[in-house]
Amino acid sequence: MIYFQSLTKNDLVELLKPLSQVKTRSDQSEEERELKVKKRAQYRAQQIFHWVYQRFVTDWDQMSDLSKDLRSWLKDNVEVYRLSERLNRQALDGTHKFLWDLSDSKTIESVIIPAALQEKEDDAFDGDAPAYAGRPVGEGVTSSKWSRLTACISSQVGCAMACKFCLTGIQGLDRHLQAYEIVTQVHELRRIAPITNIVFMGMGEPLHNFENVVKACEILLDQDGLNFSKRKVTISTSGLVPAIEELGKRVDVSLAISLNGTTDEQRSAIMPVNKKWNIEALLDACRKYPLGSHRRITFEYVMLKGLNDSLEDAARLVQLTRGIPSKLNLIPFNEHPGSEFKRPSDDTVRQFQKYLMDRKLTATVRISRGQDILAACGQLRSIFGTARGTERHRDWKVVATGSLNTVS
Ligand code: SAH
Ligand code: SF4
Repeated sequence: MIYFQSLTKNDLVELLKPLSQVKTRSDQSEEERELKVKKRAQYRAQQIFHWVYQRFVTDWDQMSDLSKDLRSWLKDNVEVYRLSERLNRQALDGTHKFLWDLSDSKTIESVIIPAALQEKEDDAFDGDAPAYAGRPVGEGVTSSKWSRLTACISSQVGCAMACKFCLTGIQGLDRHLQAYEIVTQVHELRRIAPITNIVFMGMGEPLHNFENVVKACEILLDQDGLNFSKRKVTISTSGLVPAIEELGKRVDVSLAISLNGTTDEQRSAIMPVNKKWNIEALLDACRKYPLGSHRRITFEYVMLKGLNDSLEDAARLVQLTRGIPSKLNLIPFNEHPGSEFKRPSDDTVRQFQKYLMDRKLTATVRISRGQDILAACGQLRSIFGTARGTERHRDWKVVATGSLNTVS
């Protein structure tokens, strides 16, 4: 069986070609005949994409405008993959976290992060701290009060990059996700709420799982598929330089870079990847990244108390990002049990932001969402198959499966 969500529309067209034969007329050339077969297969692929991704139908028999033969072939060969939800939990700020069981009983998390109508409209996942005040409390993701619903999805079970401040990094890499497991996270979340943006900021380093992530993006961007615009899909990376260069050639999506340090010494101490590709190499790749007009790279900057939160760091950030169309997203460190790092004070964060803004940089502070349910950045981790799995399980215990829209 092939999982439907592992197929781009072109893959499906190739599969359907042998089933889409046409009668040859004597006056027709071989090329004309092949073109006709291709057109017919394309039309069918489009119909099937609409049924699955836009009408959420999973049963081939219900796809009434497909021929009987085609339906029966699909039944024998292709299956629409479903992720089974083990648990879900909603935070007071509306952030909703889902824990999925994969077929091999490993687990991953995805999060829906809503943005309130009164928040500043910018790209995915930004926001200014004061806007927090007016946010509806206890609203579910299906509420019409949200202006934006961002799906934060995982690309791997765990992560191999071992960033010191990140809970997923502490877990280590278990395995890559297949393209269908990535696409299906969005597909499942779309059944629940009208997702507007996608960020690859859940578990895993997306560019370490390059081919699966690129394929998943193609499907997410397909107009007949989930139909997301390229501006609304963001891949966040810790800085795998050759993969950044390759990504620019393969798929047109927005790019976010986890910079997190302003000197190589500082960055290498918290992000081992910097020993392989240092800040200079990383920023060079950013300069070369093919950005469309009016598009910017997002630099994420996790602020760690006493480590990278000084005004000297802010000054270096100004220098480093000079000439790169970009914006800075400051993320005050989300503390988690057992972490050696601390979050800087709100005052420190504000001064840091002001320093950047005074120098005409766009700098937002990412509001920590879903902290009460450990759904914030760097707080995602599988609950099983890890040494600390039991401890993590406690975070989830209070929620019953299927308890959507209930605040526990
Ligand atoms: N692996 C990718 C994407 C997932 S991490 C990457 O590193 O970019 C998403 C973001 O969360 C990164 O910018 C990372 O620096 C940040 N992050 C990780 N742990 C965090 C923590 N404990 N507090 C705040 N941000 C964190
Ligand atoms: Fe992996 Fe990103 Fe966490 Fe680093 S910050 S360990 S790259 S998930």
